Amino acid sequence: NLSDKLDKAFHILKGHGKITEVNVAETLKEVRRALLDADVNFKIAKDFTTKVKEKAIGQDVLTTLQPGQLLVKLVKDELTELMGGDVAGINLSGTPTVILMSGLQGSGKTTFSGKLANYLLTKKNKKPLLVACDIYRPAAIQQLYVVGDSIGVEVYSEPENKNPVEIAQNAIKHAKANGFNVVIVDTAGRLAVDEEMMNEIERVHKAIQPHETLFVVDAMTGQDAVNTAKTFNERLNFDGVILTKLDGDTRGGAAISIKSVVNKPIKFVGTGEKMDAIDVFYPVRMAERILGMGDVVSLVERAQEQFDEEEARKIQKKIAKNEFGFDDFLSQIQQVKKMGNMKDLVGMIPGASKAMKDVEIEDDAFKHIEAIIHSMTPKERSKPAIIDVKRKARIAKGSGTKIEQVNQLMKQFEQMSKMMKMMQGPGGKNLMKMMGG
Ligand code: GDP
Ligand code: MG
Repeated sequence: NLSDKLDKAFHILKGHGKITEVNVAETLKEVRRALLDADVNFKIAKDFTTKVKEKAIGQDVLTTLQPGQLLVKLVKDELTELMGGDVAGINLSGTPTVILMSGLQGSGKTTFSGKLANYLLTKKNKKPLLVACDIYRPAAIQQLYVVGDSIGVEVYSEPENKNPVEIAQNAIKHAKANGFNVVIVDTAGRLAVDEEMMNEIERVHKAIQPHETLFVVDAMTGQDAVNTAKTFNERLNFDGVILTKLDGDTRGGAAISIKSVVNKPIKFVGTGEKMDAIDVFYPVRMAERILGMGDVVSLVERAQEQFDEEEARKIQKKIAKNEFGFDDFLSQIQQVKKMGNMKDLVGMIPGASKAMKDVEIEDDAFKHIEAIIHSMTPKERSKPAIIDVKRKARIAKGSGTKIEQVNQLMKQFEQMSKMMKMMQGPGGKNLMKMMGG
């Protein structure tokens, strides 16, 4: 699946200290393939990876992160941007607010009309009216009644009237007279775009001048969805897209393509057949879903927020000059701690939680270490070699620890300093690993 493919893509980057032209090209090729598999349009996928490449090359990789993870973040940020960046709200101005549903038959218009009515009723304190403008199938009107009944929302219909424009206009009058503040107009769709249907929805659109015209599209239809969206947008200049049937396996690549082609925000997603299966569309979450590796991204973000690159460089210099002392050790521990609870951090690394399941990680693993270092004099911290048995005893007493614990820390520190010297250079700076292992 897509997630595995991206795993593989990012694996190529592992072990490199910097994102370079060569390693990024391979990886982004895989990302592009993965996007295509998720039904993203070819040109969009290509433009997308080009853009990410431009941003990625030459970026220094934070010491605690693999370049692959940093690239994931870049990819995620770009994807988010591509899908609109921020959450797009729904325009609820007007008394009543008039909302028109458009889209092909089976896209989920009737279901979504009910979901939206339910959402506005329960979350936004509105009094919605559902309007049945599907004049071709009596069953369609019936379906809207079933939906309305299930959520306690009134349905307006005129079974004998064959003019959807009139029905919609009468419904708005009815809403005004009866205190409804939102009118949701459900319309008829066809299995494919045809002129008659387009003319009809266009006429309704012109006559009622909706505050929100929503285009409903089945996320599973992939590439076809893009063409349909384009046609509807040319005729209706709609305000937003509703992506339905995002439950199941659909990765939602259609979201990216549609947004790029019609440049209209995706406002809601449908995630099931039930009336509460509606979510506001969050571009970030969608990007994570498409990438299928959400937690890696938050790990990268946290590390970026907290890790001071300058500090890391300073320490590297100190190690090189044999000046690395307990003060530096302490500041390293604090850096790691700032990133969060050790268990959480390990849990965020794919595969690591499995590998580490037998390793006991104490939440306060650093408590004793910190206490011991705090009980050292500045001179002892910068020149650990002077710490003899007598000093150890004093430090243990001062920190409320045992002399064995002090010994253990001294040993760990020695090993770590040695290891750090050895591992200097790209990829050898992973302090967290050393402390964990
Ligand atoms: P319309 O022809 O555009 O009005 O589409 P409907 O609302 O009648 O929906 C067509 C089918 O898709 C129905 O069987 C719905 O139950 C189903 N459906 C609609 N939205 C969703 C969704 O978000 N998830 C799933 N799994 N099914 C949905
Ligand atoms: Mg319908």
